[in-house]
Amino acid sequence: MHIEIDRDVCIGAGQCALAAPRVFTQDDDGYSTLLPGREDGAGDAMVREAVRACPVHAITLPESAG
Ligand code: SF4
Repeated sequence: MHIEIDRDVCIGAGQCALAAPRVFTQDDDGYSTLLPGREDGAGDAMVREAVRACPVHAITLPESAG
């Protein structure tokens, strides 16, 4: 799985980190970022939940069409 975060779109709402805290975190500026070693989603089903939870649709999974 490949996770893309469009940081130009991200508003720092933090919903992704709430939904999938083992994959997403927020950097010092509050923007979403992937935890080290979890760039592939680490098989966490909650990644899709994070995609859905993001209010501005900043997270996409390019290879997996949904
Ligand atoms: S939920 Fe979306 S807007 Fe909020 S921090 Fe995550 S990527 Fe950014």
